[in-house]
Amino acid sequence: MKVLPVKRRLINHHTPSPQGDWHLISICYPESLLPETVTVVKSAKQSYQPTQEVLQMMEIFRQMVNDCLRMGLENNTSTLKKLSRLCYSALAGYDIISYYKLHAIAKAAGILANRKQSIKRGYPTRIPYMKHTSLISCYGFKIANGILQIPLGDRLYFDILLNSYTKKILSDPAVIVRSFTLAASNTVSICYSKEVAGIGWTATAGVDRNLANVTYGNNERVIMFDVSQATKVVENTRSVTRSFKRNDVRMRKMITDKYGRRRRNRVHQLLHKVSKAIVQDAKKRKVAIVFEDITFIRRLYQKGNGQGRGYRSKLNSWPFFELKRQVEYKAAWEGVKVITLTKGKTRGTSQLCPRCGKRVQESRRDDPFHRRQLWCPDCQRWMDRDVAAAMNVARKGGEVFHRSEGLAGEAVVQEPGSVTPAILKVDASKSSRCELKVDSVARQPRT
Ligand SMILES: [Zn+2]
Repeated sequence: MKVLPVKRRLINHHTPSPQGDWHLISICYPESLLPETVTVVKSAKQSYQPTQEVLQMMEIFRQMVNDCLRMGLENNTSTLKKLSRLCYSALAGYDIISYYKLHAIAKAAGILANRKQSIKRGYPTRIPYMKHTSLISCYGFKIANGILQIPLGDRLYFDILLNSYTKKILSDPAVIVRSFTLAASNTVSICYSKEVAGIGWTATAGVDRNLANVTYGNNERVIMFDVSQATKVVENTRSVTRSFKRNDVRMRKMITDKYGRRRRNRVHQLLHKVSKAIVQDAKKRKVAIVFEDITFIRRLYQKGNGQGRGYRSKLNSWPFFELKRQVEYKAAWEGVKVITLTKGKTRGTSQLCPRCGKRVQESRRDDPFHRRQLWCPDCQRWMDRDVAAAMNVARKGGEVFHRSEGLAGEAVVQEPGSVTPAILKVDASKSSRCELKVDSVARQPRT
């Protein structure tokens, strides 16, 4: 690894050549930028059947946490160290293994610290109280032959048979099991971690989220995932729940809850396929994934904005943030970098041509051939709105990262000529089955 001198310089991606053509300059990132190894934590959840003894222990755990919360509030302490000194002796009366006591104190300290933070930020808080029973420990348990053994004291264990999914995850030799959590919903979560070496990235790829598709890529290659199925699922759910005429609040709530769950599961399933494909592609091509900040997107579709109910319902039920959440955690697990651009950084970029950087025009409403397309008067060509957005986000991501890291463009490579990306179209519902092939579906933008 060689260390390059670091200095600040603005890099203009779009530089005119003497002939008056525009071409893109891509930046090569030096080896010194390779991120270090980080520990990434995930958890696997499965169901189990608790015994009376386990339920009792979970109840004791809840009482201990509530005792600690009370003492912490009385003495205005929220740090683990102070709370341990304060509470440990007070928990002596509970007949439970001592490391469960430590975890109860830690749990209470976490709750109190969060509360303190919320008060500091001016959010309304309630007096904390643990309502549901649980049991947490990172000590004393064993996993052997597909069985999780939870210590009950006196060298007795409660066995939970792990399902094939959990076993498959934990069979990875790089994975370290850290702790278990038994929850009141008869579920056990096993927390595990892995040392992940960051993948040195050489380019960026932007993600554009909208109702009909998720577009991911940069000036070399763009993949469009068709997620229109999600909109259909949402509409379908809406019409189903509306068709129930019974005027009973409880029944209505039960039905809408049920269909809401079903809708969420189906839409998330679709998004999981998209996020998986994005992260896999980013890992293979060594690119950093760039998102734009879409906080407050819901404000665009509020009541009173002059939009119809159906339109608002459609847009407001699209899980814009879920896709990002999935991509973020999957990317972290694979060592892929994710960059989120602030609103200020992306302002106005959707109005720019990704090829020349000039302003583009939207197609006319009465022009059926160029729906959702943009016209660049400079390049004299039409381009897809979503593709342009993803390319712009990718470019901006590279630029912003470059500035913030204060890198000089020592190794600038010029890439003359046209930068028409290969555009792949993938039906998200089938994306797990079809390998993305460049040649077969490459499409040239209409000119
Ligand atoms: Zn242009």
